Amino acid sequence: MSLTRKRVMVTGGAGFLGSHLCERLLAQGNDVLCVDNYFTGRRDNIAHMLPDPHFEVMRHDICFPLYVEVDEIYNLACPASPVHYQHDPVQTTKTSLIGAINVLGLAKRVGAKVFQASTSEVYGDPTVHPQTEDYRGNVNPLGPRACYDEGKRCAETLFFDYRRQHRLPIKVVRIFNTYGPRMHPDDGRVVSNFIVQALRGDDITIYGDGSQTRAFCFVDDLIEGFIRMMATGAEVTGPVNLGNPHEIPVRELAERVVALVGSPSKIVYRPLPQDDPMQRCPDIGLAQRLLGWGPTVELEQGLLRTIDYFANLLGVPAKSGVGTAGR
Ligand code: NAD
Ligand code: UDP
Ligand code: UDP
Repeated sequence: MSLTRKRVMVTGGAGFLGSHLCERLLAQGNDVLCVDNYFTGRRDNIAHMLPDPHFEVMRHDICFPLYVEVDEIYNLACPASPVHYQHDPVQTTKTSLIGAINVLGLAKRVGAKVFQASTSEVYGDPTVHPQTEDYRGNVNPLGPRACYDEGKRCAETLFFDYRRQHRLPIKVVRIFNTYGPRMHPDDGRVVSNFIVQALRGDDITIYGDGSQTRAFCFVDDLIEGFIRMMATGAEVTGPVNLGNPHEIPVRELAERVVALVGSPSKIVYRPLPQDDPMQRCPDIGLAQRLLGWGPTVELEQGLLRTIDYFANLLGVPAKSGVGTAGR
């Protein structure tokens, strides 16, 4: 039986998305190798999988070469929150570029299919709305977000050059804002910030006037898109947008979180960070056509599950009454 198991490596496997992906891959009957340096990931995210003999963890920074034998690779290693990727911008660029080169070199040596977690940030502060995959973006190459945006853009270039030069089977997805259980409480991204602030009764910090928009995808939907993308034939390379096209202003998100938590928190306004995109929403037509994929979890449902998770984590009673155990 074990001879037919696929060996799948997930870089960034102890992070928010990576841990959900590892869980899903194990449930499908694969051997999973989780590679992580714990920069933003947590052992708590993967602790429940450790007893599984088909799950293996390696503490490793992908900026250094890695020699293992695997059939498929999902490359998720990279801090994703603006606060964290700007904390050590040089390391962020190294992770995106040198990490991609090592992962691609490994894939080339063993003939593995290789998946890249790219991002809607490749579109920068977009002038085309909603964003389609053929839009080339509006990125400031010198600003504080560039370490991430340009790093991810160049990683895409590397993936397509390894494809052209070495015929590597590649899969590139561009992920739009995704949220859910296992985000770090100090992650700094908007959904986790607002929920943690609301549960603690702290002020809800809106940056700018809150008119900027985002479209939020629940993690389970995104992981389904990953799996479908990896299962496509060699002719499908992407890039493919994955996200939920339900777009809302950040101010509305704050109001909805406060109402769902039943929080006494008040909303306060803070300066808008430099180069913060004013609007963002995926066009998911390509994912629908290629993968038969679309999000199924409504924002309210996803927020309630995430509130429940953080309430459990912080030891605060959830007033949402959703009642599912945090994961
Ligand atoms: P996360 O910060 O929770 O996970 C990233 C993981 O990568 C962490 O476990 C971290 O420790 C690990 N890591 C970072 N640098 C590493 C290195 N050099 N070597 C090994 N491990 C390293 O973030 P996430 O939301 O789970 O994001 C996962 C991937 O998806 C990232 O590549 C991110 O750019 C991409 N993405 C996520 C979103 C989103 O909304 N969640 C949106 C766009 C793109
Ligand atoms: N690499 C790796 N694991 C492997 C094979 C390669 O980490 O199993 C690294 C290797 O250190 C190299 C990078 O991947 O720096 C790119 O490898 P490639 O073979 O594409 O390029 P080259 O070694 O010719 O520079
Ligand atoms: N944001 C906010 N308050 C917060 C955190 C973020 O108003 O406490 C805003 C941020 O300025 C941006 C949006 O929410 O306009 C989404 O930010 P996030 O960091 O989640 O991800 P981004 O989409 O900017 O990468």
